[in-house]
Formats: sequence, structure tokens, C-alpha cells
Amino acid sequence: MEPNPVLPSLGQEPELLKTVLNKEGFRFTSQRQKILDLFQSSALGHHLSAEEIQRQLLDQGEKISFSTIYRALHVMVRLDLLQELELAEGRKYYELNTPCMDQHHHLVCVHCGAVQEFDEATMTQVGQSESTARGFSLLNCTFTVYGICPSCQSLLS
Ligand SMILES: [Zn+2]
Ligand SMILES: [Zn+2]
Repeated sequence: MEPNPVLPSLGQEPELLKTVLNKEGFRFTSQRQKILDLFQSSALGHHLSAEEIQRQLLDQGEKISFSTIYRALHVMVRLDLLQELELAEGRKYYELNTPCMDQHHHLVCVHCGAVQEFDEATMTQVGQSESTARGFSLLNCTFTVYGICPSCQSLLS
């Protein structure tokens, strides 16, 4: 994966999203900035669904329709700012696009769709050595583990 020069400086440069959007012919809106800000606020975690984004923004007093949120998310995915993850069937999550070496992995509850992430360098190393050995250039190396989370287990038993 090409290192993305935009991401490290997004936090420090408030005008950056505007520059990137305008350069690619997309409209900058304060709502788009607010959506991106949610991803950068670490307290909220890395993964956000459109529903969570809408709820978080509503908490901030910002009412945004789903179609506006989806449009903003698709634009930012196209600009490589965000990555779209379909971890459980029909559930899409978005997270900041990170370079390969910083990739983390996901533990997904198939019952409620909860996602937890974990860092395990071994996975990335395996992905790298396998792709090198087979002549592939590595683009993305994430590992997804499916299971049933503790609260669903207690509900189901
Ligand atoms: Zn669950
Ligand atoms: Zn993640």
C-alpha cells in the first residue's frame, strides 16, 4: 500500500480535508469535516457505522441524514482517507485508512456485530512473508476472527 501522505497531518492541519476534497473536485462541507473528526477522536474507537456516526453527531446537536453521511463516507473512501470494512454480513464499518505496518485485526461477534480490535504483529509478518515468497506486493493485511461475544453468550445460554 502506498503510504498515504495525507493522514499523519490531518490532525494538525484543519484545512487539509478541504484541500484534498477541492483538489479532487468534491465539495468541502463542515459536516464532512465533523464526520472525519469523529474518526480522529480516539475516545470513540476506530470503527464507526453510519448509524453510530449519526448518533454521535446528534449528540453534538448536528442532525445529518443518512444519505449525507453515506455520500460523505463514500467520498472519503474514494480519497483513501477512510477504509470500508464489511466485517459481518450487511454491516459496514468505516475506519481511518492506516499504512500496512500499523494495521490491526478484528474480532467480530456474529450475533450482535460488535467489533473489537487487536494488534498482533505476527499476523502482519506472516502476511508479508507469504506475499513476498509468492511474488505478491502486499496491499492489505488484516485478519478477521469470528465468534460470539461474552454478552451474547450469556443471552444465548
Ligand atoms: Zn455479541
Ligand atoms: Zn479496525
